[in-house]
Amino acid sequence: MVTSKPHAALLASPGMGHLIPMVELGKRLLTHHGFHVTIFVVTTDSATTTSQILQQTSNLTSLNIVHVPPIDVSDKLPPNPPLAIRILLTMLESLPFVRSSILSTTNLPPPSALIVDMFGLAAFPMARDLGMLIYVYFATSAWFSAVTLYFPAMDKKLIESHAENHEPLMVPGCEAVLFEDTLEPFLSPRGEMYEGYLTAAKEIVTADGILMNTWQDLEPAATKAVREDGILGRFTKGPVYAVGPLVRTVETKPEDRKDAVLRWLDGQPAESVIYVSFGSGGTMSEDQMREVALGLELSQQRFVWVVRPPCEGDASGSFFDVANGGGDVALNYLPEGFVKRTEGVGLVVPMWAPQAEILGHPATGGFVTHCGWNSVLESVLNGVPMVAWPLYAEQKMNAFMLSEELGVAVRVAEEGGGVVRGEQVAELVRRVMVDKEGVGMRKKVKELKLSGEKALTKFGSSHHSLCEMSKDCEVHVQGS
Ligand code: UDP
Repeated sequence: MVTSKPHAALLASPGMGHLIPMVELGKRLLTHHGFHVTIFVVTTDSATTTSQILQQTSNLTSLNIVHVPPIDVSDKLPPNPPLAIRILLTMLESLPFVRSSILSTTNLPPPSALIVDMFGLAAFPMARDLGMLIYVYFATSAWFSAVTLYFPAMDKKLIESHAENHEPLMVPGCEAVLFEDTLEPFLSPRGEMYEGYLTAAKEIVTADGILMNTWQDLEPAATKAVREDGILGRFTKGPVYAVGPLVRTVETKPEDRKDAVLRWLDGQPAESVIYVSFGSGGTMSEDQMREVALGLELSQQRFVWVVRPPCEGDASGSFFDVANGGGDVALNYLPEGFVKRTEGVGLVVPMWAPQAEILGHPATGGFVTHCGWNSVLESVLNGVPMVAWPLYAEQKMNAFMLSEELGVAVRVAEEGGGVVRGEQVAELVRRVMVDKEGVGMRKKVKELKLSGEKALTKFGSSHHSLCEMSKDCEVHVQGS
Protein backbone atom coordinates (compact mmCIF):
# COMPACT_ATOMS: atom_id res chain seq x y z
CA MET A 1 0.00 0.00 0.00
CA VAL A 2 1.41 3.39 -0.94
CA THR A 3 0.87 6.12 1.71
CA SER A 4 2.08 9.69 2.16
CA LYS A 5 4.21 8.89 5.20
CA PRO A 6 7.86 9.76 4.54
CA HIS A 7 10.11 6.87 3.67
CA ALA A 8 13.71 6.95 4.93
CA ALA A 9 16.42 4.74 3.45
CA LEU A 10 19.21 4.08 5.93
CA LEU A 11 22.55 2.84 4.67
CA ALA A 12 24.46 0.98 7.39
CA SER A 13 28.20 0.57 6.89
CA PRO A 14 30.04 -2.67 7.80
CA GLY A 15 30.79 -3.27 11.47
CA MET A 16 28.46 -3.99 14.35
CA GLY A 17 29.26 -0.61 15.91
CA HIS A 18 27.86 1.03 12.77
CA LEU A 19 24.93 -1.29 12.14
CA ILE A 20 23.48 -1.30 15.66
CA PRO A 21 22.93 2.48 16.01
CA MET A 22 21.54 2.65 12.46
CA VAL A 23 19.00 -0.07 13.29
CA GLU A 24 18.06 1.75 16.49
CA LEU A 25 17.55 4.98 14.57
CA GLY A 26 15.42 3.11 12.04
CA LYS A 27 13.28 1.64 14.83
CA ARG A 28 12.79 5.05 16.38
CA LEU A 29 11.76 6.70 13.09
CA LEU A 30 9.32 3.87 12.47
CA THR A 31 7.74 3.57 15.90
CA HIS A 32 7.70 7.19 17.08
CA HIS A 33 7.68 9.32 13.96
CA GLY A 34 5.54 7.45 11.45
CA PHE A 35 8.24 6.82 8.86
CA HIS A 36 8.48 3.92 6.48
CA VAL A 37 12.00 2.65 6.98
CA THR A 38 14.31 0.63 4.76
CA ILE A 39 17.71 -0.35 6.11
CA PHE A 40 20.40 -1.40 3.67
CA VAL A 41 22.84 -3.65 5.50
CA VAL A 42 26.31 -3.71 3.97
CA THR A 43 28.61 -6.54 5.05
CA THR A 44 31.91 -7.90 3.90
CA ASP A 45 30.77 -11.48 4.45
CA SER A 46 27.64 -13.36 5.44
CA ALA A 47 28.33 -12.48 9.07
CA THR A 48 26.33 -14.54 11.51
CA THR A 49 26.47 -11.94 14.26
CA THR A 50 24.86 -9.45 11.91
CA SER A 51 21.95 -11.80 11.34
CA GLN A 52 21.63 -12.50 15.05
CA ILE A 53 21.50 -8.81 15.89
CA LEU A 54 18.88 -8.22 13.26
CA GLN A 55 16.83 -11.16 14.49
CA GLN A 56 16.88 -9.76 18.02
CA THR A 57 15.53 -6.47 16.72
CA SER A 58 11.89 -6.01 17.38
CA ASN A 59 9.60 -4.65 14.64
CA LEU A 60 11.50 -6.58 12.04
CA THR A 61 8.33 -7.17 10.14
CA SER A 62 7.75 -3.45 9.70
CA LEU A 63 11.38 -2.50 9.24
CA ASN A 64 12.27 -3.25 5.66
CA ILE A 65 15.74 -4.79 5.92
CA VAL A 66 17.61 -5.24 2.66
CA HIS A 67 20.85 -7.22 2.72
CA VAL A 68 23.27 -5.94 0.15
CA PRO A 69 25.02 -9.05 -1.25
CA PRO A 70 28.34 -9.50 0.62
CA ILE A 71 31.10 -7.41 -0.93
CA ASP A 72 34.73 -8.49 -1.12
CA VAL A 73 37.09 -5.64 -1.95
CA SER A 74 40.29 -7.42 -0.97
CA ASP A 75 41.70 -7.46 -4.51
CA LYS A 76 41.25 -3.68 -4.80
CA LEU A 77 43.12 -2.76 -1.63
CA PRO A 78 46.78 -1.96 -0.98
CA PRO A 79 48.57 -4.25 1.51
CA ASN A 80 47.51 -3.60 5.14
CA PRO A 81 44.99 -0.88 4.32
CA PRO A 82 43.62 1.27 7.13
CA LEU A 83 40.25 0.03 8.40
CA ALA A 84 38.51 3.17 7.11
CA ILE A 85 39.71 2.61 3.54
CA ARG A 86 38.30 -0.91 3.50
CA ILE A 87 34.93 0.27 4.80
CA LEU A 88 34.78 3.22 2.38
CA LEU A 89 35.51 1.03 -0.62
CA THR A 90 32.95 -1.55 0.45
CA MET A 91 30.34 1.20 0.74
CA LEU A 92 31.21 2.54 -2.69
CA GLU A 93 30.81 -0.91 -4.23
CA SER A 94 27.41 -1.33 -2.59
CA LEU A 95 25.91 1.68 -4.34
CA PRO A 96 24.81 0.13 -7.68
CA PHE A 97 22.77 -2.46 -5.75
CA VAL A 98 21.32 0.18 -3.40
CA ARG A 99 20.36 2.43 -6.29
CA SER A 100 18.61 -0.25 -8.27
CA SER A 101 16.87 -1.46 -5.15
CA ILE A 102 15.57 2.07 -4.40
CA LEU A 103 14.42 2.50 -7.99
CA SER A 104 12.55 -0.78 -7.95
CA THR A 105 10.65 -0.02 -4.70
CA THR A 106 7.02 -0.72 -5.41
CA ASN A 107 5.28 -1.64 -2.16
CA LEU A 108 6.30 1.61 -0.43
CA PRO A 109 6.51 5.23 -1.57
CA PRO A 110 9.95 6.04 -3.01
CA PRO A 111 12.37 6.97 -0.21
CA SER A 112 12.48 10.73 0.27
CA ALA A 113 15.43 10.78 2.66
CA LEU A 114 18.74 8.97 2.71
CA ILE A 115 20.53 8.57 6.02
CA VAL A 116 24.18 7.58 5.94
CA ASP A 117 27.02 7.52 8.43
CA MET A 118 30.46 8.99 7.85
CA PHE A 119 31.38 6.05 5.66
CA GLY A 120 28.42 6.43 3.32
CA LEU A 121 29.15 9.84 1.84
CA ALA A 122 29.75 8.36 -1.60
CA ALA A 123 25.97 7.95 -1.76
CA PHE A 124 25.39 11.73 -1.85
CA PRO A 125 25.34 12.04 -5.68
CA MET A 126 22.89 9.14 -5.95
CA ALA A 127 20.58 10.69 -3.35
CA ARG A 128 20.69 14.08 -5.05
CA ASP A 129 20.01 12.49 -8.40
CA LEU A 130 16.98 10.69 -6.96
CA GLY A 131 15.67 13.87 -5.30
CA MET A 132 16.19 12.64 -1.76
CA LEU A 133 17.07 14.70 1.30
CA ILE A 134 20.45 13.71 2.71
CA TYR A 135 21.14 13.22 6.42
CA VAL A 136 24.44 12.25 7.95
CA TYR A 137 24.15 10.29 11.17
CA PHE A 138 27.04 10.64 13.59
CA ALA A 139 26.55 7.59 15.80
CA THR A 140 28.82 9.25 18.30
CA SER A 141 29.20 12.29 20.52
CA ALA A 142 28.30 15.90 19.77
CA TRP A 143 31.86 16.79 20.66
CA PHE A 144 33.35 14.58 17.94
CA SER A 145 30.63 15.79 15.53
CA ALA A 146 31.50 19.40 16.35
CA VAL A 147 35.20 18.81 15.68
CA THR A 148 34.34 17.27 12.31
CA LEU A 149 31.87 19.99 11.28
CA TYR A 150 34.32 22.71 12.22
CA PHE A 151 37.30 21.00 10.59
CA PRO A 152 36.94 22.60 7.12
CA ALA A 153 36.88 26.03 8.78
CA MET A 154 39.81 25.41 11.14
CA ASP A 155 42.97 27.39 10.75
CA LYS A 156 45.52 24.94 9.40
CA LYS A 157 48.27 26.64 11.44
CA LEU A 158 46.42 25.68 14.62
CA ILE A 159 46.23 22.08 13.49
CA GLU A 160 49.93 22.09 12.67
CA SER A 161 50.73 23.53 16.05
CA HIS A 162 48.51 20.84 17.60
CA ALA A 163 50.46 18.14 15.74
CA GLU A 164 53.94 19.59 16.20
CA ASN A 165 53.84 21.41 19.55
CA HIS A 166 51.07 19.33 21.09
CA GLU A 167 48.91 22.41 21.73
CA PRO A 168 45.26 21.62 22.53
CA LEU A 169 43.01 21.91 19.48
CA MET A 170 40.51 24.67 20.19
CA VAL A 171 36.94 24.15 18.98
CA PRO A 172 34.66 27.16 19.59
CA GLY A 173 31.96 26.49 22.17
CA CYS A 174 33.38 23.04 23.02
CA GLU A 175 36.03 21.46 25.14
CA ALA A 176 39.46 21.64 23.44
CA VAL A 177 40.90 18.33 22.19
CA LEU A 178 44.09 17.50 24.08
CA PHE A 179 46.94 16.17 22.00
CA GLU A 180 46.97 12.92 24.00
CA ASP A 181 43.36 12.33 22.97
CA THR A 182 43.53 13.58 19.42
CA LEU A 183 42.23 11.91 16.29
CA GLU A 184 44.64 10.07 14.03
CA PRO A 185 44.20 12.39 10.99
CA PHE A 186 45.33 15.39 13.06
CA LEU A 187 48.65 13.72 13.83
CA SER A 188 50.02 14.44 10.37
CA PRO A 189 48.37 17.43 8.70
CA ARG A 190 50.02 16.58 5.40
CA GLY A 191 49.05 12.92 5.41
CA GLU A 192 46.51 10.98 3.39
CA MET A 193 44.24 10.41 6.39
CA TYR A 194 44.12 14.13 7.05
CA GLU A 195 43.15 14.87 3.46
CA GLY A 196 40.55 12.09 3.45
CA TYR A 197 38.97 13.29 6.68
CA LEU A 198 38.97 16.90 5.41
CA THR A 199 37.27 15.90 2.16
CA ALA A 200 34.68 13.94 4.16
CA ALA A 201 34.05 16.85 6.52
CA LYS A 202 33.57 19.25 3.59
CA GLU A 203 31.00 16.88 2.15
CA ILE A 204 29.18 16.32 5.45
CA VAL A 205 28.52 20.01 6.01
CA THR A 206 26.60 20.11 2.73
CA ALA A 207 24.00 17.58 3.95
CA ASP A 208 20.40 18.67 4.44
CA GLY A 209 20.63 17.70 8.07
CA ILE A 210 22.89 16.05 10.60
CA LEU A 211 21.85 13.66 13.35
CA MET A 212 23.97 12.78 16.39
CA ASN A 213 23.48 9.90 18.79
CA THR A 214 23.66 11.97 21.94
CA TRP A 215 21.40 14.23 23.91
CA GLN A 216 21.41 17.83 24.96
CA ASP A 217 21.76 17.34 28.70
CA LEU A 218 24.71 14.97 28.29
CA GLU A 219 26.66 17.44 26.18
CA PRO A 220 25.06 20.86 26.67
CA ALA A 221 27.99 22.89 25.32
CA ALA A 222 28.74 20.86 22.19
CA THR A 223 25.07 20.40 21.22
CA LYS A 224 24.54 24.14 21.66
CA ALA A 225 27.61 24.94 19.57
CA VAL A 226 26.40 22.92 16.56
CA ARG A 227 22.76 24.05 16.68
CA GLU A 228 21.53 26.36 13.89
CA ASP A 229 21.89 29.42 16.18
CA GLY A 230 25.10 28.12 17.78
CA ILE A 231 28.66 29.25 17.27
CA LEU A 232 29.39 26.38 14.83
CA GLY A 233 25.90 26.23 13.34
CA ARG A 234 26.86 28.57 10.51
CA PHE A 235 29.27 26.01 9.10
CA THR A 236 26.59 23.50 8.14
CA LYS A 237 23.97 23.84 5.42
CA GLY A 238 21.25 22.05 7.35
CA PRO A 239 20.19 21.74 11.00
CA VAL A 240 22.12 19.55 13.44
CA TYR A 241 19.97 17.43 15.73
CA ALA A 242 20.86 15.46 18.87
CA VAL A 243 18.51 12.47 18.67
CA GLY A 244 19.93 9.97 21.19
CA PRO A 245 20.57 7.98 23.18
CA LEU A 246 19.57 5.33 20.64
CA VAL A 247 20.85 2.03 21.99
CA ARG A 248 19.79 -1.55 22.34
CA THR A 249 18.78 -1.94 25.95
CA VAL A 250 17.63 -5.48 26.58
CA GLU A 251 16.34 -6.55 29.95
CA THR A 252 15.33 -10.18 29.92
CA LYS A 253 13.24 -11.93 32.54
CA PRO A 254 15.20 -14.66 34.37
CA GLU A 255 13.01 -17.38 32.85
CA ASP A 256 13.78 -16.12 29.32
CA ARG A 257 17.56 -16.10 29.72
CA LYS A 258 18.95 -18.90 27.62
CA ASP A 259 22.52 -17.70 27.20
CA ALA A 260 25.03 -19.38 29.53
CA VAL A 261 26.59 -16.04 30.55
CA LEU A 262 23.26 -14.58 31.53
CA ARG A 263 22.34 -17.68 33.47
CA TRP A 264 25.67 -17.47 35.29
CA LEU A 265 24.99 -13.80 36.08
CA ASP A 266 21.63 -14.85 37.57
CA GLY A 267 23.57 -16.60 40.32
CA GLN A 268 25.71 -13.57 41.26
CA PRO A 269 24.94 -10.81 43.78
CA ALA A 270 23.64 -7.44 42.56
CA GLU A 271 26.25 -5.12 40.98
CA SER A 272 29.08 -7.52 41.83
CA VAL A 273 30.42 -8.41 38.36
CA ILE A 274 32.77 -6.37 36.18
CA TYR A 275 32.19 -6.87 32.47
CA VAL A 276 35.31 -6.58 30.29
CA SER A 277 34.95 -6.08 26.56
CA PHE A 278 36.66 -4.06 23.87
CA GLY A 279 33.83 -3.69 21.38
CA SER A 280 33.11 -5.51 18.20
CA GLY A 281 36.63 -5.24 16.80
CA GLY A 282 38.98 -4.54 19.70
CA THR A 283 41.94 -6.85 20.10
CA MET A 284 45.14 -6.66 22.14
CA SER A 285 48.58 -8.19 22.18
CA GLU A 286 49.24 -11.50 23.87
CA ASP A 287 51.24 -9.72 26.61
CA GLN A 288 48.39 -7.35 27.25
CA MET A 289 45.92 -10.22 27.48
CA ARG A 290 48.09 -11.82 30.14
CA GLU A 291 48.16 -8.59 32.13
CA VAL A 292 44.38 -8.23 31.94
CA ALA A 293 44.06 -11.77 33.23
CA LEU A 294 46.47 -11.01 36.05
CA GLY A 295 44.63 -7.79 36.88
CA LEU A 296 41.29 -9.53 37.07
CA GLU A 297 42.70 -12.14 39.42
CA LEU A 298 44.38 -9.50 41.58
CA SER A 299 41.21 -7.41 41.76
CA GLN A 300 39.38 -10.29 43.46
CA GLN A 301 36.20 -9.27 41.74
CA ARG A 302 33.73 -11.39 39.82
CA PHE A 303 34.06 -10.84 36.07
CA VAL A 304 32.84 -11.65 32.58
CA TRP A 305 35.58 -11.14 29.98
CA VAL A 306 35.12 -11.31 26.21
CA VAL A 307 38.41 -12.56 24.74
CA ARG A 308 39.68 -12.61 21.16
CA PRO A 309 42.85 -14.11 19.75
CA PRO A 310 45.62 -11.51 20.06
CA CYS A 311 46.43 -9.26 17.14
CA GLU A 312 49.84 -7.66 17.52
CA GLY A 313 49.91 -3.99 16.56
CA ASP A 314 46.30 -3.74 15.40
CA ALA A 315 43.82 -2.69 18.07
CA SER A 316 40.90 -3.10 15.68
CA GLY A 317 42.06 -6.50 14.47
CA SER A 318 38.70 -8.27 14.75
CA PHE A 319 36.60 -5.53 13.20
CA PHE A 320 35.62 -7.52 10.14
CA ASP A 321 35.81 -11.08 11.30
CA VAL A 322 34.48 -11.05 14.83
CA ALA A 323 31.53 -13.06 13.65
CA ASN A 324 33.65 -15.62 11.90
CA GLY A 325 34.56 -17.42 15.03
CA GLY A 326 38.10 -18.03 16.08
CA GLY A 327 36.01 -19.67 18.76
CA ASP A 328 37.82 -21.18 21.69
CA VAL A 329 41.21 -20.44 20.10
CA ALA A 330 41.28 -17.21 22.10
CA LEU A 331 41.37 -19.23 25.31
CA ASN A 332 44.79 -20.64 24.34
CA TYR A 333 46.36 -17.25 24.94
CA LEU A 334 45.28 -16.95 28.56
CA PRO A 335 47.83 -17.63 31.30
CA GLU A 336 48.25 -21.25 32.27
CA GLY A 337 45.57 -22.32 34.73
CA PHE A 338 43.70 -18.99 34.62
CA VAL A 339 40.33 -20.44 33.68
CA LYS A 340 40.61 -23.14 36.35
CA ARG A 341 41.77 -20.74 39.07
CA THR A 342 38.94 -18.32 38.39
CA GLU A 343 36.22 -20.94 38.08
CA GLY A 344 33.06 -19.78 39.81
CA VAL A 345 34.41 -16.22 40.12
CA GLY A 346 34.71 -15.32 36.49
CA LEU A 347 33.64 -16.32 33.02
CA VAL A 348 35.68 -16.01 29.87
CA VAL A 349 33.59 -15.70 26.73
CA PRO A 350 35.35 -16.24 23.39
CA MET A 351 34.78 -13.64 20.66
CA TRP A 352 31.27 -12.27 21.22
CA ALA A 353 28.89 -11.86 24.16
CA PRO A 354 25.34 -10.54 24.45
CA GLN A 355 26.56 -7.17 25.68
CA ALA A 356 23.27 -5.29 25.86
CA GLU A 357 21.81 -8.08 28.01
CA ILE A 358 24.92 -8.30 30.20
CA LEU A 359 24.97 -4.57 30.89
CA GLY A 360 21.24 -4.68 31.62
CA HIS A 361 21.65 -7.55 34.09
CA PRO A 362 21.30 -6.58 37.77
CA ALA A 363 24.50 -8.49 38.65
CA THR A 364 26.68 -6.28 36.43
CA GLY A 365 28.28 -3.48 38.42
CA GLY A 366 31.09 -2.17 36.23
CA PHE A 367 32.40 -2.19 32.68
CA VAL A 368 35.98 -2.16 31.41
CA THR A 369 35.37 -0.66 27.99
CA HIS A 370 37.30 0.54 24.95
CA CYS A 371 34.87 3.50 24.93
CA GLY A 372 33.21 2.84 21.57
CA TRP A 373 30.23 5.17 21.66
CA ASN A 374 27.62 2.40 21.58
CA SER A 375 29.29 0.73 24.54
CA VAL A 376 29.42 4.04 26.38
CA LEU A 377 25.73 4.70 25.82
CA GLU A 378 24.75 1.14 26.72
CA SER A 379 26.68 1.45 29.97
CA VAL A 380 25.18 4.83 30.82
CA LEU A 381 21.65 3.70 30.01
CA ASN A 382 22.09 0.78 32.36
CA GLY A 383 23.61 2.92 35.10
CA VAL A 384 26.96 1.08 35.01
CA PRO A 385 30.20 3.01 35.85
CA MET A 386 33.25 2.33 33.71
CA VAL A 387 36.97 1.75 33.48
CA ALA A 388 37.83 3.67 30.29
CA TRP A 389 40.44 1.94 28.17
CA PRO A 390 40.34 3.62 24.74
CA LEU A 391 41.99 1.89 21.78
CA TYR A 392 41.38 3.69 18.49
CA ALA A 393 39.23 6.18 16.50
CA GLU A 394 37.60 8.85 18.70
CA GLN A 395 37.65 6.61 21.79
CA LYS A 396 40.22 8.73 23.65
CA MET A 397 37.94 11.75 23.38
CA ASN A 398 35.11 9.62 24.73
CA ALA A 399 37.33 8.45 27.59
CA PHE A 400 38.20 12.07 28.44
CA MET A 401 34.53 13.00 28.51
CA LEU A 402 33.60 10.06 30.75
CA SER A 403 36.41 10.47 33.25
CA GLU A 404 37.15 14.21 33.28
CA GLU A 405 33.81 15.82 32.47
CA LEU A 406 31.09 13.43 33.53
CA GLY A 407 32.86 11.64 36.38
CA VAL A 408 31.43 8.22 35.53
CA ALA A 409 34.69 6.42 34.71
CA VAL A 410 38.29 6.01 35.80
CA ARG A 411 40.80 5.93 32.98
CA VAL A 412 43.70 3.64 32.20
CA ALA A 413 46.98 5.57 32.23
CA GLU A 414 48.99 4.93 29.09
CA GLU A 415 52.54 4.03 29.87
CA GLY A 416 54.30 5.26 26.74
CA GLY A 417 52.11 3.16 24.46
CA GLY A 418 53.32 0.03 26.24
CA VAL A 419 51.49 -2.71 28.02
CA VAL A 420 49.14 -1.74 30.87
CA ARG A 421 50.22 -3.77 33.88
CA GLY A 422 47.93 -6.10 35.75
CA GLU A 423 48.41 -4.13 38.98
CA GLN A 424 46.95 -1.05 37.30
CA VAL A 425 44.05 -3.04 35.89
CA ALA A 426 43.30 -4.43 39.36
CA GLU A 427 43.48 -1.00 40.96
CA LEU A 428 41.11 0.56 38.43
CA VAL A 429 38.63 -2.30 38.72
CA ARG A 430 38.61 -1.95 42.50
CA ARG A 431 38.18 1.82 42.30
CA VAL A 432 34.96 1.27 40.36
CA MET A 433 33.69 -1.85 42.12
CA VAL A 434 34.80 -1.48 45.72
CA ASP A 435 36.05 2.00 46.63
CA LYS A 436 34.01 4.97 47.77
CA GLU A 437 34.93 6.65 44.48
CA GLY A 438 32.92 3.94 42.70
CA VAL A 439 29.86 4.71 44.78
CA GLY A 440 30.01 8.33 43.59
CA MET A 441 30.43 7.28 39.97
CA ARG A 442 27.52 4.88 40.22
CA LYS A 443 25.30 7.65 41.54
CA LYS A 444 26.33 10.00 38.72
CA VAL A 445 25.86 7.43 35.99
CA LYS A 446 22.38 6.61 37.28
CA GLU A 447 21.52 10.30 37.06
CA LEU A 448 22.74 10.33 33.47
CA LYS A 449 20.63 7.26 32.73
CA LEU A 450 17.53 9.15 33.85
CA SER A 451 18.48 12.19 31.84
CA GLY A 452 19.00 10.04 28.72
CA GLU A 453 15.63 8.36 29.18
CA LYS A 454 13.99 11.76 29.63
CA ALA A 455 15.45 13.03 26.34
CA LEU A 456 13.53 10.30 24.50
CA THR A 457 10.14 10.92 26.14
CA LYS A 458 7.38 12.77 24.37
CA PHE A 459 8.51 16.07 25.86
CA GLY A 460 12.24 15.32 25.66
CA SER A 461 14.84 17.17 23.60
CA SER A 462 15.80 14.23 21.37
CA HIS A 463 12.21 13.33 20.62
CA HIS A 464 11.62 16.95 19.70
CA SER A 465 14.66 16.89 17.37
CA LEU A 466 13.38 13.87 15.45
CA CYS A 467 9.95 15.55 15.21
CA GLU A 468 11.66 18.53 13.56
CA MET A 469 13.54 16.25 11.20
CA SER A 470 10.39 14.36 10.26
CA LYS A 471 8.60 17.68 9.58
CA ASP A 472 11.40 18.57 7.14
CA CYS A 473 10.91 15.21 5.42
CA GLU A 474 7.14 15.63 5.21
CA VAL A 475 7.52 19.08 3.65
CA HIS A 476 9.97 17.58 1.17
CA VAL A 477 7.53 14.78 0.27
CA GLN A 478 4.71 17.28 -0.24
CA GLY A 479 6.90 19.50 -2.39
CA SER A 480 8.07 16.73 -4.68
N1 UDP B 1 28.87 -5.94 21.09
C1 UDP B 1 28.23 -7.08 21.55
N2 UDP B 1 28.99 -8.13 21.96
C2 UDP B 1 30.35 -8.13 21.96
C3 UDP B 1 30.99 -6.96 21.52
C4 UDP B 1 30.24 -5.88 21.08
O1 UDP B 1 26.99 -7.14 21.57
O2 UDP B 1 30.97 -9.12 22.34
C5 UDP B 1 28.06 -4.80 20.63
C6 UDP B 1 27.99 -3.73 21.70
O3 UDP B 1 26.89 -3.98 22.55
C7 UDP B 1 27.85 -2.45 20.88
C8 UDP B 1 28.59 -2.77 19.59
O4 UDP B 1 28.69 -4.18 19.51
O5 UDP B 1 26.49 -2.21 20.60
C9 UDP B 1 29.98 -2.18 19.56
O6 UDP B 1 29.90 -0.82 19.29
P1 UDP B 1 30.88 0.22 19.93
O7 UDP B 1 30.52 1.56 19.38
O8 UDP B 1 30.88 0.12 21.39
O9 UDP B 1 32.32 -0.19 19.47
P2 UDP B 1 32.96 -0.63 18.09
O10 UDP B 1 32.77 -2.08 18.00
O11 UDP B 1 32.27 0.14 16.99
O12 UDP B 1 34.39 -0.25 18.25
